[in-house]
Amino acid sequence: MPFAYYDRLPASRRRIYDRSDAIVELPLPPGPDTGSVIAAIAAGLEADRETAVQRACQQLLDDLTMRFKVPSLRVKVYATRPSGDWGELHGMYLPEDEGNRAVVEVWMRTAQKQKVVAPRTFLRTVLHELCHHLDYELYKLPETFHTEGFYKRESHLLVQLAGPPPPKKGQSAAGESPLSRTSTGTRGAKAQSSS
Ligand SMILES: [Zn+2]
Repeated sequence: MPFAYYDRLPASRRRIYDRSDAIVELPLPPGPDTGSVIAAIAAGLEADRETAVQRACQQLLDDLTMRFKVPSLRVKVYATRPSGDWGELHGMYLPEDEGNRAVVEVWMRTAQKQKVVAPRTFLRTVLHELCHHLDYELYKLPETFHTEGFYKRESHLLVQLAGPPPPKKGQSAAGESPLSRTSTGTRGAKAQSSS
């Protein structure tokens, strides 16, 4: 079942939504082992070192964009998440614009408690933004929507790279929330953003 905002979309955009929703898997093309670079992201978070995290994220996304045969991305890692009465921003995707590479921005610390984000949550945000990029560059969708299919692809990629979610006390694996708050720039001249 589509998300509630589907009802407000015109038919042309619903067709894009439906295409996105129908793709529920994202098999990772073969390539070098990503274990060490994912460990480097976790170590950088642990040590609270932005530059180390950014370097490792860039390496991971360079590897993944190469495997998916899509244009490369630039990663920017920042300290504390921007926040407002709407909540806090985990990540952001800015599509390729007039020849400038697409950019992924991601934040290391929560706005509220200034706590470093858990490595798996952080990795999920990075992959979430990559999934927006793949919507444009791999599936050639004119727009990138948050659909159930989108979140399934994000989770599928996360599990392939980081393994199944660790079971938590009193919470099933399905309780891991894929609905992280992120923002996406819209491709083209009109700067419009939606979370
Ligand atoms: Zn998003």
